[in-house]
Amino acid sequence: MSLIIPIFIPHEGCPHCCVFCNQHSISGQSSPPVNGAEVGATIRAWLARSKPENRGQAQVAFYGGSFSGLPAERQTELLAAVQPFRDQGVVQEIRLSTRPDYIDRARLDLLCRHGATIIELGVQSCDDSVLQQAGRGHSQADVEQAVRLIKERNLRLGIQLMLGLPGDRFRSLRNTAEAVIRLRPEFVRLYPVLVLRGSGLETLYHRGGYRPLSLGRAVVLAASMKKRFDDQGIRVVRMGLQPTRELEQSLAAGPYHPAFGEMVQARLMLRQTRRLLAGVSKSAPVVLVIAERDQSIFRGLGSANIKRLRHLGLLDRFSLRTDPQQPRHTLKVVQADSL
Ligand code: SF4
Repeated sequence: MSLIIPIFIPHEGCPHCCVFCNQHSISGQSSPPVNGAEVGATIRAWLARSKPENRGQAQVAFYGGSFSGLPAERQTELLAAVQPFRDQGVVQEIRLSTRPDYIDRARLDLLCRHGATIIELGVQSCDDSVLQQAGRGHSQADVEQAVRLIKERNLRLGIQLMLGLPGDRFRSLRNTAEAVIRLRPEFVRLYPVLVLRGSGLETLYHRGGYRPLSLGRAVVLAASMKKRFDDQGIRVVRMGLQPTRELEQSLAAGPYHPAFGEMVQARLMLRQTRRLLAGVSKSAPVVLVIAERDQSIFRGLGSANIKRLRHLGLLDRFSLRTDPQQPRHTLKVVQADSL
């Protein structure tokens, strides 16, 4: 596990007004912009709280806003504040998020000069019509160009996607997943669209021009995308926004749940269970083996998976065991008499 030191720069550097965005609500920060000295103090405080042996590759992550859209002096101020910690060898990586249309060779020169190693692109969708309805102000061609330039520099690439944007359908989401797979990012984050107070989407929602995904539908869609990325060896490192009090207070509607990611994992576990049981004889008692820490995911939130398995008449067909060797979020089936 790496130590991740978060620095929030909400809405800085961004003249856009994406229909879903209210950056202050998402990050829980509405105070004045952080300066270099505060960045240094934050890093020191996080390092002081962690044991060196538990830090792994310590990473400073600039969240929110569009980092490479900031004036060059501002980017330099923030990145230079990390430099002393890189020189001491106590911070190894710098991560930042930005828009695809704020990536070009000159901006990458600056980022690389100051040690940025991971760039997360807010792609949101690979469908031009969905991007346009979301007021993103960039196209899929911008995404492809940005990815090309980032890879040219051998920087690590993450992609953020949203599910349930205005005009988004199952087909556009599936096409987005396929387009992202072709771009070969190292990791992906999946965020179901929430209607935040003060966002353009809230106005649209109250006018009846937007219907958010239900929680159940968002879980199904996220599970289907995660499975596709898993199959391609692309890590899905987060599903759903980080739950904060500020986010909950600014939520007007939408598929929010603080354990959204776990719900998706539980859904995938249920699918695996059904598939495995379908492949073994109904008469032979079997044992399903899961990782020790996956017991609550196997049961599902409020034991939803157990209820579903009972409803399907599958609950009596297996017993459950845990095995420390079993990888997380996987299960295997063994014949009961082979144990
Ligand atoms: S580009 Fe990012 S920061 Fe700017 S309005 Fe859109 S979501 Fe918000």
